[in-house]
Amino acid sequence: MPADTTPPPPPPPLRVPVADSHTHLDMQSGTVEDGLAKAAAVGVTTVVQVGCDVAGSRWAAKTAAAHTAVHATVALHPNEAPRIVHGDPDGWSRQGARPAGGEGALDEALAEIDALAALPHVKGVGETGLDYFRTGPGGKAAQERSFRAHIEIAKRHGKALVIHDREAHEDVLRVLKEEGAPERTVFHCYSGDADMAQLCAESGYFMSFAGNVTFKNAKPLRDALAVAPLELVLVETDAPFLTPAPYRGRPNAPYLIPVTLRAMAEVRAIDEDAMAAAISSNTARAFDY
Ligand SMILES: [Zn+2]
Ligand SMILES: [Zn+2]
Repeated sequence: MPADTTPPPPPPPLRVPVADSHTHLDMQSGTVEDGLAKAAAVGVTTVVQVGCDVAGSRWAAKTAAAHTAVHATVALHPNEAPRIVHGDPDGWSRQGARPAGGEGALDEALAEIDALAALPHVKGVGETGLDYFRTGPGGKAAQERSFRAHIEIAKRHGKALVIHDREAHEDVLRVLKEEGAPERTVFHCYSGDADMAQLCAESGYFMSFAGNVTFKNAKPLRDALAVAPLELVLVETDAPFLTPAPYRGRPNAPYLIPVTLRAMAEVRAIDEDAMAAAISSNTARAFDY
């Protein structure tokens, strides 16, 4: 049977409006206006548009300037930093293969991110962090150097830090501690267990849950959600990725936030409105808007 790639139907609207704390509108089909309207129609009235490279970060800043419902974050993705230094042998980049630029190219790109981070509608620096799933040992040094630079940029501009942590929990927590985390730090697509949620809570880090919290095999994630302080919990799509059950494999977009949020309310055994109200104020606090 061919995979179903049609967009899932819109869920019933939320009564309390919330924000999608992490999305990639530039990787979704349709116009930004349509995507925002579709989201607003189900109570997702705000989105945080996340940059992954210099071009994407410029686009995020421009899109946030044009739409009050959009806030931007800017960064070089943890998989992007080693590509800038070493080239793109695995072809993972959206922009295709590119020649190795060396450390100087990384410094230039970081300077661009630094300049964008100063803009008023840019509310965060990220997604940055460490990704040991896609980046091999050869790219580790460039990735960590880039992560440390992003932490410094976030702190200097007083912006939130958005963390991408894939199979790198210990090192991400270590680097944050060594550098000193910014006042507001968000673990996007939180992927730790309940023990790590405890550590994040002690440091006041926000934990943003994505559609994978609904997956059958994601019990450790639900256990983490169950123990995380409610005032540190956010929700996100990371769209077009991580479409929540029962729509796994079909395209994700901000209008599907209610599906994930309802599953989260169930895990916490609180009603949907209370979950939405908490998430709404948490996201505004995390990104200071
Ligand atoms: Zn990510
Ligand atoms: Zn992302």
